[in-house]
Amino acid sequence: MILPPATLGMLGGGQLGRFFVLAAHEMGYRVVVLDPDRNSPAGRAADEHLCAAFDDVEALERLAQTCAAVTTEFENVPADTLDHLAKFIPTRPNAECVAVAQNRIAEKTFLSDRGFAVGPFATIIAMTDLEAADPALFPAVLKVARFGYDGKGQARVANVAEAKAAFDGFKREPCVLEKMLALDMEVSCVLARDSAGRVAPFPVAENSHTGGILDVSIAPARIDGALAAEATEMAIGIAAELGYVGILGVELFLSGGRLLVNEIAPRPHNSGHYTIDACVTSQFEQQVRILCGLPLGDARQHSRAVMVNLLGDLWYRKDANHSHEPEWSRLLRVPGLKLHLYRKHHARPGRKMGHFTVLGGLGEPVIDLAMNARTAIGIVD
Ligand code: ADP
Ligand code: MG
Repeated sequence: MILPPATLGMLGGGQLGRFFVLAAHEMGYRVVVLDPDRNSPAGRAADEHLCAAFDDVEALERLAQTCAAVTTEFENVPADTLDHLAKFIPTRPNAECVAVAQNRIAEKTFLSDRGFAVGPFATIIAMTDLEAADPALFPAVLKVARFGYDGKGQARVANVAEAKAAFDGFKREPCVLEKMLALDMEVSCVLARDSAGRVAPFPVAENSHTGGILDVSIAPARIDGALAAEATEMAIGIAAELGYVGILGVELFLSGGRLLVNEIAPRPHNSGHYTIDACVTSQFEQQVRILCGLPLGDARQHSRAVMVNLLGDLWYRKDANHSHEPEWSRLLRVPGLKLHLYRKHHARPGRKMGHFTVLGGLGEPVIDLAMNARTAIGIVD
């Protein structure tokens, strides 16, 4: 076991890394963050910020020398970086798992080869793959295999001609072409899995997206227990097949009454932010625990929760050219609401700047309270 006050390494300086730093600090650990952005939220909260690229040899050497173990908040860390660090210190999750999750072709192929239900898709490497694609896939979504997030690197296409134009627009980078599914609901399961294969799944969350970005998460999801159990079993099965050690986020579609895996994230997940306030152990504390070889914490949810993301658009509500601080008093006056702002340097439309979670007991109108607070702060549908 790695015990406090040991130093832990974090690859990536975004809000997920920042929450890891805060959880590690509470437990008495020190954290070194590697991120090329001088103003990264996690870097600014860390004991030491290595402001360098993820493949910077000197920075990696410093991480390996100062840290007892290293983890990531970012799936696009180069596999070589993780492999290199793993020669010196425990690295969780490992490069192989991250490689599967960071490439939609590897991810979809892995899932379907192992018998996990996914929606119909085709791998697109060249124009000829689009010409050969099953016409039943249309209308479809073309997604670049790498570096897409929050709906970026995706195009909705009605037919082959549109798909070809979109593929050109993506500079003919490798893609997956997915059938556009009619979604009854989107859900996710975030779980922790340790090196002995023990798992602690968090309750399934129900997610709604706006413009491809997570907007609202309701936990637990409003689905029947059998379906929630099935989603959880799928997530556990995927983690086991990967030999995964760390926090895994599994996004699922409920389509035509069936659960299909959408994608997996080798890190804490935005839809797991409710665990910070509503569970005995948060996804970030769990990440610290697994990294340090501590026993898994209790993942039980003690309050119903609704999380709402706060995007940079809110800062430009009054005037598209100048940013204004949103009127936080409108949120802070709600007693059961927990506000989390990530202290990002600049607000930009579409950028995740913070979130809030409304907590409540059974029978309390948490969804209404959260949706009213969402309107009060200026989020428009
Ligand atoms: P990312 O989260 O990396 O941006 P996703 O593949 O999860 O990419 O897509 C973002 C959102 O777009 C999904 O949560 C879902 O709302 C919608 N979406 C993606 N693929 C499909 C699909 N095949 N059918 C219907 N909706 C989709
Ligand atoms: Mg997604």
